This record gives sequence, structure tokens and C-alpha cells, in this order.
Amino acid sequence: MPSRDFMLCGGVRGTGGFDPLLLAERIEPLVAPWRGGVQLRRYARFRWSRHYGGNVAGDVIGCNLRCAFCWAWRFAFRATGGELLEPASAARRLIRTARGKPVYVARLTGGEPTIGWSHLIDLAARVVRNMPSTVFVVETNGILIGAGRVDPLELVSRAGRGRVFFRVSIKAAEPETFGKVTGAAPWALDLQLRALEKLAEAGLEPGRDYRPALVVGLDPPEAVARLLERIASIDPRLPGEVEPEVLTLYPHARLELGRRGLKPRVYREP
Ligand code: SF4
Repeated sequence: MPSRDFMLCGGVRGTGGFDPLLLAERIEPLVAPWRGGVQLRRYARFRWSRHYGGNVAGDVIGCNLRCAFCWAWRFAFRATGGELLEPASAARRLIRTARGKPVYVARLTGGEPTIGWSHLIDLAARVVRNMPSTVFVVETNGILIGAGRVDPLELVSRAGRGRVFFRVSIKAAEPETFGKVTGAAPWALDLQLRALEKLAEAGLEPGRDYRPALVVGLDPPEAVARLLERIASIDPRLPGEVEPEVLTLYPHARLELGRRGLKPRVYREP
């Protein structure tokens, strides 16, 4: 990991974890700079996989969390490297990657796709226009949505209702675990839940337009029950839509979880 990338995170670290909003502000000019009125995004690679029954993905560089179990830490924990692409070029790469394969979903993953919001909107609109049978899935930690830094309706209105799906990955059931898991300040868990509130306020439908995922196995069952109650207070249909995220203990994840004093009770071997 380049030392500059370490500094980006270290520069916003305070007692009790770093501020993920400040980290997003710091890395955005590096991973999503503007050139000639167009926002670019830094990509590590494009690939097809069987997930979602067949999908094309762009792995983006840069995230505002530092999750212990992040499978994509080589992309997510950096703000440099890869290729800087305009939305039109990235859309072409996704469309080319899809050729000759079953594809139901297009997505950005690897890092946090909401960093570089204007790029994401432009990209998603181009992809769904050119790939009529696909849905664009935004796999997000929800922090920027919850803080009101980006507006999900902007994306829905450009791409079209029913063509975009938000999957908000909630990293822990209680703030203390969230802080250990992500390295961020524990209060930021609330922003993840507020992201679900914003999606509900935007008139989006649970299950059809958005869904929470929840990392399981790190919190006691009582904490999970409290979280589900909070989620139900946003929309009573939401707890039924929660997708459990079982950790895969890749060597890096095993090491980092141990370093942070976290012992998953449920996990999957790689
Ligand atoms: S939010 Fe996702 S991409 Fe970012 S560090 Fe966590 S697992 Fe990795």
C-alpha cells in the first residue's frame, strides 16, 4: 500500500476512529477528479462473474471505510493506481465485458461507488440505455447517502425507476463493533441506517429498489435484534429484505479481524 494512501487515512484519524466523510472528501479529488466538466473515476479492472446470475463489474479504487474483512482491500484502501476513465469509456468497457455472456446486472464494486457521484450517475444512465435487460446495482456502504452528500433520486431519475437497485451493506449491528470493523468513528453506523431512511423517503420500494445487507456473526443476537427493530421503524417490510452477509475468512481478513480483537462466530472458509 503506497504511503500516500496511508496518510490519507491517518490524516483524518482521531480518537475513536476516523471520520469517513472527511476521508471521502480527501480521496475524491484523487479517485474521481474532474477534467473539462466531466468527472472521471479510477478503475482497477472490469470483469464478468456468475454473481446475480451473471453480471459485469467495474472494480473501482478508493473507499471511505477500512473494513477488516474487505476482500478488495488492495483496491479499496488506496487512492492511486489503476486507470482514470470518463463515464463514456467506463460504460463501453462494461458493455464490451458483457458481450456473449448472460448479464442481468451491471455494477461498480471493489471500492465505494458513491465517491464520484456525478461519474456514477452518468455511467449508470449510459449502461442501462445500452443494455436494456440489465439493472444497475449500487453496492454501497451508504455513508454519503445517509449524510445527504449525494441524492439517490438524482440517480434514479437519470437511469429510470426500476433500472437502479441500491444494496446498502451495514457493517455491524452496534456502534462499538462498527468502529472496530471499519476503523471509522462508531457514530458513522448511524449514517448507514440513515441511508435506508433516505431511500425510503425518496419513495423507493424495499426489495424492488433497495435492500440492506448485514454482516453477521460479529455482534451478539440482542444487538442484531435491536438493529432489526430500528430498521423496521424505517419500513416494516425492510427486516424481511435484509440479506445476511457471511464473512469469507481470506488470509488478510483473518489477520485483520484478529488484530482488531474480532472473532466471527459465523464465517465461510475461502
Ligand atoms: S465498505 Fe466495502 S469496499 Fe469499503 S472497505 Fe468496507 S468492505 Fe471494503
